[in-house]
Amino acid sequence: MRIHLMTDLEGVAGVVNHYDYCRPESRYYEQARALLTAEINAAVDGFFAGGATDVVVCDGHGPGAINCELLDERAKFSRGHYSPIFPFGLDEGFDAVAILGQHAKSGTPYSHLTHTGNFSVYDLSVNGLSIGEYGNMVLCAKELGIPAIFAAGEKAFAEEAEALTPGVVTVAVKRGLLPDDGHAYATPEEYSKAKLSAEHLTPAAARKKIRAGAKLAVERLKDNPKQFRHPDLKAPWHIIRRIRPLNIGRIQHAKDDKSFIAALNKLYGC
Ligand SMILES: [Zn+2]
Repeated sequence: MRIHLMTDLEGVAGVVNHYDYCRPESRYYEQARALLTAEINAAVDGFFAGGATDVVVCDGHGPGAINCELLDERAKFSRGHYSPIFPFGLDEGFDAVAILGQHAKSGTPYSHLTHTGNFSVYDLSVNGLSIGEYGNMVLCAKELGIPAIFAAGEKAFAEEAEALTPGVVTVAVKRGLLPDDGHAYATPEEYSKAKLSAEHLTPAAARKKIRAGAKLAVERLKDNPKQFRHPDLKAPWHIIRRIRPLNIGRIQHAKDDKSFIAALNKLYGC
């Protein structure tokens, strides 16, 4: 029972804003890294308690955020310039994909530190369906025949995951307090500061919920893998990314007749 755990930073409880927490030069970056790694350890412990035999943890935050020294020794750490980038080392040898520390996609009301890849993206859509970073990962997993079993992060993200992959076990560790109309004419800088209000669980409470959810997800996977469903989208693939602010009008396209993974890597230029 091999689990690929994809991680991000902005959806972790106690990570308050981008400027002070999410950049290597941020004054609270080391604290943010420790908070992320402790949430990962809670998930790893839950996965093993549920019956996992191997957990590979991928550091998906742009500049990297996991503190390996604090990582549960049963886990393996994955980070690098994957070639191509997507799907971040995921392959058919895994039984499930899981996501932790994740934020909702750009334009989501009542989410926190909301973005898709970076704050310049107004919207990313695949065959007409707007998706975020989670959607990218689970559509890659779908192509490889791997279910998405667990999704932890902020509340709006948990709802995004439930809608996209019914059956996934979700855990919400904070709740964004601000509306969002897409901020079409905001600059990326302005958007990075537009969604900073949230109500957080304490880190200790977040970790308890994450451990319980991770254990349940693996138990359900062993019980009946078919209860985890993928997004109902099919080839040919057409991905459209619209860049903020929209009055500058940049729109990027990538297409592939057969492979979503190939289309996504074309979009990211790799
Ligand atoms: Zn992200």
